[in-house]
Amino acid sequence: MIYPAPLRNPMGCDVLVVGGGPAGCMAAAAMASELQVKVVEEHPLIGEPVQCAGLVTPRVVEMASADDTIINRIDGAYVHFPGGRTIELQGNELKAVVVDRGEFDRRCASLAEKAGAEVSTGHKCLAVKRSAEGVLASLDEGEVHCQALLAADGYRSRCARDLGFPQARELVRGIEADLRLRSVDQRKVQVFLGRDVAPGFFAWAIPCGDLTRVGLCVASGNGTPQEHLNRLLSKQGWSEAERVRTYSGAIPMGHIEPTYGDRALVVGDAAGMAKPLSGGGLFTGMTAGRMAGETFLNAFKRSDLSAGSLSSYEERWKEVFGSELHNSYRVRRLFVHMSDKDLDRVGTRLDSEKAKRVLAKGDIDYPTALAPGLLRACPSLISVAPLLLLRLLRR
Ligand SMILES: Cc1cc2nc3c(=O)[nH]c(=O)nc-3n(C[C@H](O)[C@H](O)[C@H](O)COP(=O)(O)OP(=O)(O)OC[C@H]3O[C@@H](n4cnc5c(N)ncnc54)[C@H](O)[C@@H]3O)c2cc1C
Repeated sequence: MIYPAPLRNPMGCDVLVVGGGPAGCMAAAAMASELQVKVVEEHPLIGEPVQCAGLVTPRVVEMASADDTIINRIDGAYVHFPGGRTIELQGNELKAVVVDRGEFDRRCASLAEKAGAEVSTGHKCLAVKRSAEGVLASLDEGEVHCQALLAADGYRSRCARDLGFPQARELVRGIEADLRLRSVDQRKVQVFLGRDVAPGFFAWAIPCGDLTRVGLCVASGNGTPQEHLNRLLSKQGWSEAERVRTYSGAIPMGHIEPTYGDRALVVGDAAGMAKPLSGGGLFTGMTAGRMAGETFLNAFKRSDLSAGSLSSYEERWKEVFGSELHNSYRVRRLFVHMSDKDLDRVGTRLDSEKAKRVLAKGDIDYPTALAPGLLRACPSLISVAPLLLLRLLRR
């Protein structure tokens, strides 16, 4: 058992959250009404620079009460296969929304502040270490002694590394440009597949009114995202469109385990929680963030900050999206090994009214839940990856 010890200096707090992204801020919002919580963010302004396409399910916006950050609503997709086939998918309801990601993050931070957290920007955490009394964080301006620490510092997580947590299994690098270009169909995203377009991942074009957000990620060892983006823009005839803003980033995939230790939890990209099939990390990161805050709260009430006491955090997030992360990472491993011909074979099988009816019901937060229905609709899909698909069916 690890009991909270008295604070050693006025720079102390109960829980230090390193990283003022959505995962860290949701955690702070969940515990700050009862604990003394500090959030430190290295950038001067929360939410900047943006490294995200901002495509999320409505449930994510609801979590942050951030309806007014919505730029557009999406109910379907055009999926372009390498051989030239395009499948149009029409969802049976609103499937996703596009948010202004900078504003969205600031909304999450204000939830944390309203709950009583101190959100401090422009402060970088340089190192952390556990001691008998708590956790000592060295910031660029002084030290903070805390009883417990939440590593919410994104894909390069310094805190997770210093505290001995493992790293995510892989990292894909991405780039995006907002083009001054109005998409004809404002309700559908475009997805481009193929080794030439975005090896090991996919490219996207998201309608945002008079702008179109075009981006892609590539798995490591496949050249730079910039080269691939230039090629995609030229192929689509978009090279001449004005680039209003370009941003880049990386997405860690293949979540870490454990995500808890003595006096510490890891959340969001720091724990590799992004969904392996889409790269979306807001739903998982914010859901787990809230759970991390609640776990700390309960652990303080029990006066026990040991790893055993904090382990319920991992049980809880796994209940909500653990098997989805696990299954979709397996599908991802299969996907990265597929040739363009394999992808085209999948396209041929999915291009049927039966399959599209199943896909119309999909939920982008739980994509592998579609597997059983899809296999019933087009059993010939099984020939693409028999063992993997059977395992998904048995889940
Ligand atoms: C190109 C691209 C497109 C994406 N598109 C989508 C999408 O459409 N939908 C979606 O759901 N997800 C998307 N993602 C993923 C999503 O952006 C992340 O999963 C999400 O931001 C994770 O939230 P987080 O709070 O864990 O981490 P972050 O949002 O990365 O927040 C971590 C914060 O910690 C701060 N920090 C880091 N180190 C320190 C330190 N030492 N001291 C202090 N502060 C520190 C960082 O500045 C950052 O603000 C995309 C990612 C990329 C790269």
